[in-house]
This record gives sequence, C-alpha cells and structure tokens, in this order.
Amino acid sequence: MSFNSLGLSDALLKAVSKQGYETPSPIQQKAIPAVLEGRDVLASAQTGTGKTAGFTLPLLHILLQKQTSHKRPIRALILTPTRELAAQVYENVKSYSEFTDLRSLVIFGGVNQKPQVASLNRGVDILVATPGRLLDLQNQGVISLKQIEILVLDEADRMLDMGFLRDIERIMALMPAKRQNLLFSATFSKDIKKLANGILRKPVLVEATPENSTVDAITQKVYRVAKGKKTDLIIKLILDGNWNQVLVFTRTKHGANKLCKKMISSGITAAAIHGNKSQGARTKALAGFKSSKISVLVATDIAARGLDIPLLPHVINFELPNVSEDYVHRIGRTGRAGASGEAISLVSADETTFLRDIEKLLGERIPVTILEGFEPDPNASTKPIKQGQGRNQQRSSKKGTSNSRKSIDNTSRKSNRSNDSRSNNRRPKSRRD
Ligand code: AMP
Repeated sequence: MSFNSLGLSDALLKAVSKQGYETPSPIQQKAIPAVLEGRDVLASAQTGTGKTAGFTLPLLHILLQKQTSHKRPIRALILTPTRELAAQVYENVKSYSEFTDLRSLVIFGGVNQKPQVASLNRGVDILVATPGRLLDLQNQGVISLKQIEILVLDEADRMLDMGFLRDIERIMALMPAKRQNLLFSATFSKDIKKLANGILRKPVLVEATPENSTVDAITQKVYRVAKGKKTDLIIKLILDGNWNQVLVFTRTKHGANKLCKKMISSGITAAAIHGNKSQGARTKALAGFKSSKISVLVATDIAARGLDIPLLPHVINFELPNVSEDYVHRIGRTGRAGASGEAISLVSADETTFLRDIEKLLGERIPVTILEGFEPDPNASTKPIKQGQGRNQQRSSKKGTSNSRKSIDNTSRKSNRSNDSRSNNRRPKSRRD
C-alpha cells in the first residue's frame, strides 16, 4: 500500500514525501481510512508505530475539505498527558501541515502563557494541549471549544495514570456533542474501556504492535570495570551524560535497593522495582518514571518483565544476566522507530563467561570501552559468579538466531501489555501538567 492510495490531499502527500516516508505503517493503513470516513476510532498503539501521523494526516485532510472562517475557531483538539508529548505531536502537526494554510499551536503548563494567548487570539485551527493549561486558558475566556469537530486523546492510558480523568470530563463538556473522536492508548485497562465507552460512538478498532526494536538498531557498549567501581562508574555515566530516562538492571533485589540508595545520595532521582516491592510501590515508581519525576528505574528482570515500560534511550546492565536471552529482553527496551537507543553493560572479570555467551547468541562482539579511573582489576578471578536457578542454566545453553530474537521481543512486549492492563486498576492518582 502506498500513501497515494489513501486519498489524502496533495499538500499532505508532499509533506509525507518530504519526511521520507515511503509506505504507511500498519496503524496508518488502518487508522487513516477510518478517520477519513468520519468514524470514531479506538486505537491500541504505542509510540514507535507511527500513530501520530495515523491521526494527524486524516485530521488535516478533513479540516482542509471545509473552508475556515477568517476567525479560525479551533476545529481540532489533540490532548496529550505530558508537555513532552504535546511538543512532539505539535512538531508532527507542523511538519505534515507545512504545505497547507492551516494553523496549529501547542499549549502546556510551566511556561509563560502570554505568547500562547497571543497566538490563540490570532486564531488556530488545530490545538495540541495538555489538560491543565487548556482548562486554565478556557477559564480565562481565551479558548472556546464550541466549534471542535475532531478530538484526539493521545496516550489516554497515561492521562488516566496521571489523574487527568476529571479534567478530560470537564473538557468534553465544553465541546459540541456532535464531533469525531479518536482515542489512542497503549494499554486497555477497565478505566480506559469505561472512558472509551463514554466518549466513542461505534468506534472502528485499530491495533498495531510497535515495530520490533531489533538488536541491530541498538548501539551496544561494554565497559570493562573492576567490580568495586561499578557504582561510581554508573553514577558518573548518568550524571556526565545528563541522562534522565534510564532503566538499570541488577541481578538481585538487594543489589537493586543498594544501587538505588547510592544513586539517590549522589543526587540522582531513582527508584527500585523488584519482587519484594508491593504492587502499589511498583506502579508508583513506574508512574514517576514515565512522567519523568524519576530519572532512573533500577529493576530486576522479573519485575521489569511484568511492566509496560516504554522504549527508552538508555538501558544499563549494572550486572550481566546469566541467561543470555534475558540480555536480549533487557536491551529490547531501548530504541524507537527512527531513533536508536543505547544499551550499556558494566562487566567485571567474573562476568566474562556471561559476556561470551551473550556474544555467541548475538553472533557478534560488543565493543569494549575502558574508562580511566575505572579500569578492570587485572588480578580479579574470571570464575563466573554463582549462578541462580537451574532454569537459567538450562536456558543459557540455547543457541539463538536472529529470528528467534524477534520472537523473544514479541513475546516479551505482548505479555507486558496484558500484565499492565491488569495492574492498571490500581494506579496512583498524581497530576503533572
Ligand atoms: P510515532 O509512533 O507517531 O511517535 O512515530 C514514530 C516515528 O516513526 C517518528 O519518528 C515518525 O516520524 C516515524 N514515522 C511515522 N510514520 C512513518 C512512515 N510511514 N514511514 C516511516 N517513518 C514513519
């Protein structure tokens, strides 16, 4: 299928081609025709699937079909949970509408509202907003939502996680009842289904799994380091790199707690998730991490597997797993479509065998770096650390191919999603805008 066959206007096709997109992604193939038909859409899609173009392109096409009045009332509203996502979606809207005369604007809290008010007064067709600032400006009489034709709720699950349900309900009440609604969510908890039932009319269901973040798209690096210097090294890497979305894996629960404490005392906001933590504590840590209140999440393999952690720019193996396949699961958490992630492993002498096993599974050597002041101990024994359970021993002897890697990735993502849907019912209510 080509973009040309979707029936989008020439101005949009020109923008798509300028972006270098050749074929619509699966979610775009399904969502674009449904939206163009004027249907409500309930889409299950995460970042990395091309979902933003999936709703933005047909939305722009619909707006282009009708003449706007000189006053330019807001005709399309895209609500997002976070400032970061609002800014990202807005960039997409701007790019895709480059060859049209449609005007768009992004508004979110935490910044001076004056420029936002000035732009609103000049008139915009498409508004991308976080709920808090939108309601603030509506209360001040700067925004009217009375002429909204299309509403998009992007990452609706995160909006609920962040306690925006009441704000969403308030915003709905300000819009005409007759409008087109598109709801995008990565997970489908009971709360999301309830929200969707209340908003959508006979929605078309659209589902897409993210593109596999293949091992090839991930930059892998090994730091050979003395065991006793790992904590200082990881803290240095995070602070020097100014990284703020880092998933760190440790082999043990105790190790996760200890490392987390050390990071906190070095001024890094960190939380640990593992089997000894209550579900409440885990979901709270995850919500903090997703909303960027926590920069580093320290996790054990099992704990991380049950959670829907978005794809991240950095994954660090504080210790290598003794099961080679777990390494692939771990690093599969990094990388996004169109952008590669970085997977770093801190490897001490006693992990040499694990590293070799992993390299055998991958069919490639991982480049090694040694940082001054953090050199490996030349006298340390290379005898492997005591292995955990028998299950692991057995699995580590399996040989993998690139195909089996893909299936590992898929299985892991799917199970994360369903686990997350179940745990969503007890999400902490916190707000950030
Ligand atoms: P999204 O899931 O909307 O965050 O998009 C993820 C990435 O995929 C972004 O960098 C988009 O620019 C890119 N993208 C979206 N649609 C396509 C496409 N049809 N072909 C190639 N890249 C795309």
